[in-house]
Amino acid sequence: MRILLYRSAQTLTCKPVNQKFKRSTELNNVGLLEDYSLIIEDDQITDITSIKDFDFSNFDLVIDCRKNVVMPGLIDSHTHLIFSGSRSDEFEMRVAGKSYEEIAEKGGGIVRTVEATRKETKEQLTQLSLDRLKESLSYGITTIEIKSGYGLDFETELKMLECVKDLQALQPIEIIPTFLGAHTIPREFQNNRSAYVDLITNKLIPEISNRNLAKFCDVFLEKTAFNIEETRTILEQAKKYNLDLKLHCDQFNSLGGVDLGIELGVKSLDHLEMITNEDIQKLSKTDIVATILPGVSYFLKIPFTPARKMIDEGCVVSIATDFNPGSCTSQNLPLMMNIATLYNGMKLNEVINSVTINAAYSLGLDHKVGSLEIGKQADILILNTSDYKNLVYYFGRNFTKTVIKKGKIIYERNH
Ligand SMILES: [Zn+2]
Repeated sequence: MRILLYRSAQTLTCKPVNQKFKRSTELNNVGLLEDYSLIIEDDQITDITSIKDFDFSNFDLVIDCRKNVVMPGLIDSHTHLIFSGSRSDEFEMRVAGKSYEEIAEKGGGIVRTVEATRKETKEQLTQLSLDRLKESLSYGITTIEIKSGYGLDFETELKMLECVKDLQALQPIEIIPTFLGAHTIPREFQNNRSAYVDLITNKLIPEISNRNLAKFCDVFLEKTAFNIEETRTILEQAKKYNLDLKLHCDQFNSLGGVDLGIELGVKSLDHLEMITNEDIQKLSKTDIVATILPGVSYFLKIPFTPARKMIDEGCVVSIATDFNPGSCTSQNLPLMMNIATLYNGMKLNEVINSVTINAAYSLGLDHKVGSLEIGKQADILILNTSDYKNLVYYFGRNFTKTVIKKGKIIYERNH
């Protein structure tokens, strides 16, 4: 199958120059090409060219892109997409003045979603998640990370990760599974935390690793979740079992997550709303990705991660939705890009690289997706506009026209 994306008004390659990701001033360069064409053969990009004359009979499909932007498919590198139940009543409480932490202390929050998720069969969870993945696809998302963490027992954590495996076979978005058994301490272990850490390290991690059910292991390091010693125990064990590491840290309190993440060689540190200046300096000297979640700051009305300062200091940043029922109920990644410009101080080009090449790097997928380059997988988003800046400028609007995954059209939207 040969496809020609014919003379797009703008092509954003998002191709990094010397490294596998972009940082500092390079982050402000999206690799803009005007009036270029892109050729796909089977699942790969085989040419990006300024040639204007083509023999259309050489192609199985020609898409006229003269009024469109062609860019890499978007990557949502941090989500909790599999869950059951709604927490709209907690939202109502928050609107009336209660804090996220207060609601969690009263038995709301994650543990409530856990109760609802435990009750569902794998098939029910799969169906709920399929509908949500369709929503993600409509925004041009071609790769997504999904965490477990609403099971918090042996059976349900495995059920969630098996659900990811089933979802991979049932729909076209590539899913990267992350084990987040250490999301919070489940109710039945409140008075015996060490037994829960033991369940994670001695039962769940070996089982998940042996069955190849997750690529990453993640922990929520926070006062209401896991402390620094517990976090270290879990991540060290995951590392022994060949899982790559991620860490939720510095969301409400700075508890030493950056130091630990650097020491253990995590791939990304996520949240970082309360990161200290000292930790920004340390992080800037590493290749660890700081995954910024603007929708969480917006929805919880908590401070925004100081992305401007982090980028200026040289940190590698990416942006994700953190889609979940408690702290970000939107799957609209372009909306997060808009919020990141206005409230995290990021530039338009910076947010585009943050949901493409840098997000790919944070998931260890930069060798095949995240940028438009000859030889890379053809994961492409075609926008229904000729000016890529509109994707960030119009907030809440959907500019998706066509989504291509591995060289196949997987979504088309009529405008
Ligand atoms: Zn999260």
